[in-house]
Amino acid sequence: MPRTCSVCTSPHRSEVETALAEGMTFASVSRESRLGGLSPDAVERHWNNHVAPDVRDVRSVEGTSPLSIAERMSALAGQAASIREGAIVKGDARLALQAIRLEGDLLSRLTERLGVRPDAVEEAFAEADSLIRVVAHIARRSPRAGEWIADQLPPERAQLAATIRGVARDAERVEQDETKAATRA
Ligand SMILES: [Zn+2]
Repeated sequence: MPRTCSVCTSPHRSEVETALAEGMTFASVSRESRLGGLSPDAVERHWNNHVAPDVRDVRSVEGTSPLSIAERMSALAGQAASIREGAIVKGDARLALQAIRLEGDLLSRLTERLGVRPDAVEEAFAEADSLIRVVAHIARRSPRAGEWIADQLPPERAQLAATIRGVARDAERVEQDETKAATRA
């Protein structure tokens, strides 16, 4: 019988995979107690053997400036979304689930960033602006993800939630029109 993987069975599995996809090293994931204090070997073995290659590729996306944290998360979520789409086409449910989990984690982290500090100081406004652009971008690519983000926003962000829903609905309409056009053709 194969040895049980401590990461596969960990309640922190998806957080561990997201941290790795975001570029955290095996050693630092291992040091993070919030990630369950797994051994670096176990983390590395899991990443190499139990995570689909397409998901592992996400890790190679570059991005270093503070502004790009949000953009990078958005890029990763976008990549996860296209992996998910590809996996569904191929009928690979396992890969699709991994991609959905990664995408969901990234989106919820992004939402956390949007929801934080209503008493934000000036420099945070610049960041909020770029986050709004990122979310609008996500909503256009994936209307359902946009709706989901809008649902997570606190009541004091109602205005922003409405904007995101508007973007998502427009994107959905465009998508439906394209589908209709494709069916006719
Ligand atoms: Zn594993």
